[in-house]
Amino acid sequence: MSKKFLKAVKGMNDILPSETPLLQYIEKNIRQVLEAYGYQEIRLPLLESTELFSRSIGEVTDIVEKEMFSFLDTPDKYGNRDSLTLRPEGTAGCVRAGIEHGLFYNQRQRLWYIGPMFRHEKPQKGRYRQFYQIGAEAYGLSGPDIDAEMILMTARFWRRLGLDDLELQINSLGSAAARAAYREQLVSYFSDRRSQLDADSQRRLQTNPLRILDSKNPEMQALIENAPQLLEHLDEASLEHFATLKHLLEKAGVNYRVNPRLVRGLDYYNRTVFEWVTQNLGAQGTVCAGGRYDGLVEQLGGKQPTPAVGFAMGLERLVLLLSQVQVADKSPHAYLLMVGNDAVIEQGLCLAESLRDLLPELRLLTHCGGGSFKSQFKRADKSGAKIALVLGENEVTNQEITLKYLRENRPQFSVAQSELGEYLKTLIIDK
Ligand code: ATP
Ligand code: MG
Repeated sequence: MSKKFLKAVKGMNDILPSETPLLQYIEKNIRQVLEAYGYQEIRLPLLESTELFSRSIGEVTDIVEKEMFSFLDTPDKYGNRDSLTLRPEGTAGCVRAGIEHGLFYNQRQRLWYIGPMFRHEKPQKGRYRQFYQIGAEAYGLSGPDIDAEMILMTARFWRRLGLDDLELQINSLGSAAARAAYREQLVSYFSDRRSQLDADSQRRLQTNPLRILDSKNPEMQALIENAPQLLEHLDEASLEHFATLKHLLEKAGVNYRVNPRLVRGLDYYNRTVFEWVTQNLGAQGTVCAGGRYDGLVEQLGGKQPTPAVGFAMGLERLVLLLSQVQVADKSPHAYLLMVGNDAVIEQGLCLAESLRDLLPELRLLTHCGGGSFKSQFKRADKSGAKIALVLGENEVTNQEITLKYLRENRPQFSVAQSELGEYLKTLIIDK
């Protein structure tokens, strides 16, 4: 058998122990805010049928055209093979689950999720093939009030995390009918200037002309700048919805910029769309993005019209922005040395268990693997623990334990094992 080392698959990252504390800090703060707004967690499969994504995200979008990890399942007993896809985003699966379990029927839901998503993109800083998103979705609410509240909640995330350089961009995509009328105008504008379009945009002109507005090609910007604007072709009801949203954001003191070219890359959106953008991550500047998708539940087979709005944010991009933050130290409070015969190890393990019973928040590392006092002490110091608990044969006989501070210059002392819990509580945890 070959001993060749197999590396991780391209674009799939290991998140190492040195990196998890910052991720945990981000997740904990965001989770607290989500719960404060009444959102409940939903956990969804990573694998769904390919059709779920092509029907919701849209056949002619970047994701469905070229970014999905899809494969054929093993044949069933008739030899049929289903096409399955690793989820590229969370909304489609959330809608599928909501319909399947009757969560939307005459109900309102505020849901959130966290987990990995998969897109076959060119890996670069802030763009990976497996990445993590936290997302939230609200169902059964059609007004601009929930759009506003959701945006206020995202603004609170950034305040909570100490991020103050994100810009909120908003736009309205109007109703499907208004968008269809606008689409004709756009096609006629770009068709008259076809020679100025890059290859991607020429293709999109036939399939998904709105996406031309999303082009990142600098040479296309002037042409896009002068194109007719969707905001000027919105239906009355959508205009009013948008005006109220802006009014509510102003009242709540959240700054925004209307970006008439913000169209989002997925087909299911209507009316409100928004993005939080930073200048500090180059072309990967969108940290959080979302919008309203009132038609999707019915489009995927839901029995009742179910208005919906949601967003998702990429955790890796937040990690990049927050890499300077000092997160709380999670090194052990105490390190238990067990120096001596089998009786020491027996008593040591049992003592550690009783401490964990008594003090659930105690971070206690036991020294396993034996060795001299000196070598054990070295490891205790390296662990970052505040205090060393030394159990030797003498201590076992006397039912005592010796305590030595590792970060402060104080004389060591011994206490009865039965009192150790109290000592640790007052000396370390409550401190
Ligand atoms: P972009 O324009 O950067 O490709 P997007 O419009 O495809 O983003 P969404 O589908 O709206 O992104 O996903 C929401 C968020 O998820 C993004 O704002 C970003 O923070 C994150 N995200 C999307 N794709 C990736 C990726 N390949 N790697 C890391 N994070 C990503
Ligand atoms: Mg993308």
